[in-house]
Amino acid sequence: MSSQASFDRASVLGKSADELRALLESLGEPGYRGAQIYHALYAERRFEFAAMTNLPLAVRERLEREAAIALPRIVRRHRSADGTVRYVLGIGTANIEAVFMPEENRQTICISTQAGCAVDCRFCLTATLGLVRNISAGEIVGQVLVALEDNRAALKPQTNIVLMGQGEPLLNYDPVMAALRILLDPDGMAISPKHATLSTSGIVPGIERLAQERVRPKLAISLNASSNEQRDKIMPINRKYPLEKLLDACARYPLRSWERLTFEYVMLGGFNDSPEDARRVVRLLANLRAKVNLIPWNPGDLPYEKPDLARVQEFRRILADKGMLAFVRDSRGQDVMAACGQLALAESAASASPDVTHA
Ligand code: SF4
Repeated sequence: MSSQASFDRASVLGKSADELRALLESLGEPGYRGAQIYHALYAERRFEFAAMTNLPLAVRERLEREAAIALPRIVRRHRSADGTVRYVLGIGTANIEAVFMPEENRQTICISTQAGCAVDCRFCLTATLGLVRNISAGEIVGQVLVALEDNRAALKPQTNIVLMGQGEPLLNYDPVMAALRILLDPDGMAISPKHATLSTSGIVPGIERLAQERVRPKLAISLNASSNEQRDKIMPINRKYPLEKLLDACARYPLRSWERLTFEYVMLGGFNDSPEDARRVVRLLANLRAKVNLIPWNPGDLPYEKPDLARVQEFRRILADKGMLAFVRDSRGQDVMAACGQLALAESAASASPDVTHA
């Protein structure tokens, strides 16, 4: 499907229109050819220079020799009974994961923003990998391209993206923003900012920086606790950016007219799922234009229990009674470990895996 990486050739994936213009000029070609490549690559999803028929043949042949489109390599595909596909993708010597979730009128693609993660949330399997490395804008955009291409025959008109895979997006800020500018560009991949969500563990300086961006996705915060004491236990990042600082940054965040902040709340049975927790969450978020997604914990290897369904519903009712938008989120693809906090298997730690696909 893709031109394989050739690291001594100029890689075009992840480059902006301006960067492609500069690259073409450095090759002695007219700069506007860069914009043509941008369109062919991101809007038309052509992954071979030979297929970029908006370019003259001589330019295509030259690019085949001197440049590369290094898409992530599909190492493994795991298909779930509900149609979800989890991809293990090879990028150089590391592996990352992306998930494709088909729905009736759209597809949602969950992508990684780092290989592994250093944030160390206690309920998250990715945390057990540690940070393998930051990934590039091309490796981020490439996940979306690979997932779309691999499902080309069944694509629905709308694509949603969620930056909720491996990694903390705001700790790999510049590549993540460079990728988002391509993904959300009407002349690029043309995903609506209303259909793109960046999820953070609560990196306050990153939230403040994101607030200044002209092009930005929606923002989701992993809350997961109703007090600092509780959050410290499962999200050590809370010691650096405690709830007062985090919620203050949220209160100052400039929401667009159509926008709300999303607070993700992974419900860990017997730990953060009591009615008193729900009442504290109501108080914490009282002054924010927000919605809350309640995510019942998916049983895994980690020492937490799936919460009782009646408790989950009671928690949601307490929030709703106080006028908060609150939803219980169904975690799709659990049978292939594609659910929230599960995007990490041992095979993600290194790329020694064979190049095979599982259907
Ligand atoms: S939940 Fe997100 S931020 Fe926390 S360790 Fe996992 S990948 Fe990192």
